[in-house]
Amino acid sequence: MRVLLAGGAGYVGAHTAVALLDAGHEIVLLDDLSNTSALAAERVSQITGRPAPLVVGDASDESVVAATFDEFGPFDAIVHLAAFKAVGESMEKPLDYYSNNLDTTFALARVGLERGIRSFLFSSTGTVYSDPSDLPFTEESTTSVDLSNPYSKSKRMNEVVLADMARVNPELDVTVLRYFNPVGAHESGLIGEDPSGIPNNLMPYIQRVAVGSLERIGIFGDDYDTPDGTGLRDYIHVVDLALGHVAALERAQPGFVVYNLGTGRPVSVRELIAAFERAVGRELPKVVLPRRAGDVDATYCDPSKAARELDWVATRTIDDAARDAWNWQSRNPQGFASA
Ligand code: UDP
Repeated sequence: MRVLLAGGAGYVGAHTAVALLDAGHEIVLLDDLSNTSALAAERVSQITGRPAPLVVGDASDESVVAATFDEFGPFDAIVHLAAFKAVGESMEKPLDYYSNNLDTTFALARVGLERGIRSFLFSSTGTVYSDPSDLPFTEESTTSVDLSNPYSKSKRMNEVVLADMARVNPELDVTVLRYFNPVGAHESGLIGEDPSGIPNNLMPYIQRVAVGSLERIGIFGDDYDTPDGTGLRDYIHVVDLALGHVAALERAQPGFVVYNLGTGRPVSVRELIAAFERAVGRELPKVVLPRRAGDVDATYCDPSKAARELDWVATRTIDDAARDAWNWQSRNPQGFASA
């Protein structure tokens, strides 16, 4: 299949690009490089020994998407991973988040439909689930647009838009993947997570402390109603997540279908730090801080629908993720800028 990967040079995008190429598909990456580097595309090619052409451009601009189809099309599928994703920043810049995260979908979907794509796959988030009494979340659990931050709201709004698009295009496969917490890196150490500035997420923060560019890990609260008092999340190895995209594309069916991509195993902040300490072989400096506003005790999914329908399960452990993340970060202390 020929796949246009919007946001394809980002963290999830580059790993998905590798997984698609390894599975024998052809890809073109469209990315504005606002939160990554062109090197990511070169590394995808280096890992797979296959071409990974990169169009540097804005996926929210229909003329850019159309020009990409003119030059590299036709495509069978669009995988849409082009979004702003920092929860905290979305509180400060809600209009930027709503416009970017929706306009990319409008432009990609409009041009894709005109040009006859068969599949549209959208990257969403497990944070669209709104009722903690539903844990572990299944695809039928309650969702809301009334979520705690504009990032999550923009993802749920996209899902609503895409469900309506699927309704009036019954021949089209529209697949929504609700990610839980992606961590880790490709085992080559050539691609990995490289957030700009101080990381918001736990795993890249731990990575920066381990490599010495940040002083100590802050544990945001140890008085949650969980076994060790720290928050529980469903951390999924980014390579498993990438393989989930390949499975979802290869088995896509007409209509609007949603899958959770997670492990189903809740892991605490302290457990994730301990896994990383095992990978590094030493203790890392850490301090308990107050809870972060908006955080919940626990979020994890029931991934059995993807296992049943896509024959996909996450097989990698948090120790695998810690080992691979450390391999990436220690070889590239400044991320892609180390090259
Ligand atoms: N967390 C933490 N210190 C950090 C970043 C995150 O203790 O520097 C905790 C956070 O409170 C949550 C978990 O780690 O329990 C995962 O947070 P992250 O921001 O990685 O992902 P989220 O689940 O919020 O999307």
